[in-house]
Order: sequence, then C-alpha cells, then structure tokens
Amino acid sequence: MSLKVHKNIASLVPYSPGKPLDELERELGISNAVKLASNENSLGPSPKAQAELAKHIGQLNVYPDGGAHYLRRALAERWKVDPAQIVVGNGSDEVISLLVKAFVAPGEEAVMADDTFVMYKLAVQGGHGVPVKVPLKDWRHDLPSMAGAITDQTRLVFVCNPNNPTGTMVSQAEVDVFMKAVPDHVIVVFDEAYYEYVRSTEYPESLQYVKQNRPVVVLRTFSKIYGLAGLRVGYGISTLEIMDYVNRVRPPFNSNSLAQAAALAALDDEEHVAKSRAMNMTEMGVLEKELNYLGLSPIPSQANFIYFDTNRDGRQVFEALLRKGVIVRHIKGSMIRVTVGQAFENQRFLEALQDVLTHSG
Ligand SMILES: *Cc1c(COP(=O)(O)O)cnc(C)c1O
Repeated sequence: MSLKVHKNIASLVPYSPGKPLDELERELGISNAVKLASNENSLGPSPKAQAELAKHIGQLNVYPDGGAHYLRRALAERWKVDPAQIVVGNGSDEVISLLVKAFVAPGEEAVMADDTFVMYKLAVQGGHGVPVKVPLKDWRHDLPSMAGAITDQTRLVFVCNPNNPTGTMVSQAEVDVFMKAVPDHVIVVFDEAYYEYVRSTEYPESLQYVKQNRPVVVLRTFSKIYGLAGLRVGYGISTLEIMDYVNRVRPPFNSNSLAQAAALAALDDEEHVAKSRAMNMTEMGVLEKELNYLGLSPIPSQANFIYFDTNRDGRQVFEALLRKGVIVRHIKGSMIRVTVGQAFENQRFLEALQDVLTHSG
C-alpha cells in the first residue's frame, strides 16, 4: 500500500456508536431488547414535530433553506439574541467541527476534559490540531486546571456541562471564576446538550457571556430531550464576530429541510419537553436507588443518564448485558453509562444487571 496517511489521522479511533436495537434483536433472536446507550429520549420524538414532518415530504425535491431562516428566528426569539448570532448544524456535532475548522489551525491547541464527549478530540485531531486533556476532579471538570492548561497556542476550551459521560456539572460561581482567568484570544465552548434536563439552581447561565460579547459559544441540540437525534439538528449561539467566521466554513445546505421543520415544531412542544423531564426525574430516582442497593454508588447526574462503577471488568458486564438484550455503554475500565429510559426499560436493565452481577466476580 502506498497511501500516505498523516499520523494524526492514522492514530484516531473511529467513533463507535451503540449497537442498533434491531441488529441485536436479530442476533439474539428476541424482540424485546432495550437500548439505553445513546441518551436518546425514550418517549420518542415530539408529536408536534412528527405531524409537521408529513407536510414537508412533498417538497423534498427542493434544496433546504441553507440559512435555516425560520428556525434561527424562533431560536433568537427564545434566547433573546440576534438571529445572526445563531448557527444551525447537522447536529451540534457539526457545529463543533465548524468551530474547530474556523479557529484551530494545524498545531494549535484545544483544551478539554479527559473524560468527556469524544467528538471534541475527534474534531480537533482530525483537523490536525492538538487536543490538550485535563483530568476530571471528583468526576467533574477541573476548571482551575483547565484555565492553567491554556497557552498562547490555545484557541478553544470545551466545557461539557453537564458532562457526558459523568452527568456532573460545574456551577455558576465556578464558571465565573474560570471566565476571569481565560484570556481574550480563547473561545470557550459550553456544550449544553442536556440543558433541558438540568435541575440544579447553581447551573450557570452561559448565555450571559455571549450577551456581554465575550468569546463564548453555547451549544444546544434537538437530539436529546426533543427526541430528534435521527434528524441531526443542533445549534450554536455566539457573538456576531464568531458566527461570521463559522459561516465562512459552513457548507451551504448543512441542515436539511425536514430537520429544520421538525425542530421548529418541537421547540414549541412544551408539553413533550415537560413530560420528558418529569419522566427523567422520577426514573432517575428509581435507578439511583436500585444501583445504590446493588452497591454500585452511581454518580449524581444532572442529565438523562447515569455513570456508575461496576467494581469489576466493565466490558464483561457490558457484554453480558448485551447477551440479555440490554444495550448500555461501556466507557472505560469498570465504568458504565446507562441512559434513563421508561420504567419498563429501566426495570429490564436492573433485572439483567442484578443477574449479571450475581454471576460474576
Ligand atoms: C449527544 C450530545 C451532543 C449532541 O450531538 P448532536 O450532534 O446534536 O446529536 C452534543 N454534545 C454532547 C456532550 C452530547 O452528549
């Protein structure tokens, strides 16, 4: 082979998504598998979004509105910013990639936690930038150390809040101190994919920094509580200057017409959001209690998933659960992340887990 592949690309590990439900069911010859692996909304997509989609099928011959005019206008109203301060992406994943493309040149650095959303590293290293990883402290972002890791070469800092996979958050007071320590040449990206699930009153209002014209980007998504992960739609809110640069590297038709229409309808479906949040709160309580009962001390979570220590080989637990038709996520070592689902799914998971634990070390 004579391909010349740069080491930055050759050393990447491809993102491995959770196994699809129907694939596992086919393998096991069962029909009642449950997937609690990707933090999706188990209650499904917003019914309003589903109804809206049908109206747009007949227009799929036409290119989408590349500027996502109506969706950006609605989001701007919701968050009290100028529509030009919003960029819509093919998932917030894409917005992360666009930020890296716009601001991190080869050899330049981006600071992130070591146990966090893997897309930051993939985007930065894939763009020949340098991911600088700062260890979590007590399962949370160590903001003072992250500020300390900033150099002249730093262009972005990713703060995943609540953090995936730990479910932990950093507070307004902590972020205030952090923001004072961050130099002006650095853009702070607050990834708030689980924003709508957060219960803590200490949760930072990161948009205030955008409104103060600080170099900050706030990322939100329709993939989680809104239940539209399959359509790929997320967005970023930032200053006019930062958005101007992002739009220079954004593909012209990056968000499709069905995604835009469904997101617009879902945004107004407060009933679905409230129902999803309430279910998460109740079921999170059940899962925490039962995991504690099994002696597994789950880490308190502000999101729609729980991270816990199996106290044994996590990969083996993951695989044993899989054989019982329960898909969770093995993160590393003894740690597993499970999405909070509906009661019947969580019960399936808890029963399978108890079974697996009693038959292993
Ligand atoms: C799920 C998730 C996202 C959402 O990605 P989309 O591309 O919008 O589906 C972003 N950030 C974090 C931390 C996530 O867990």
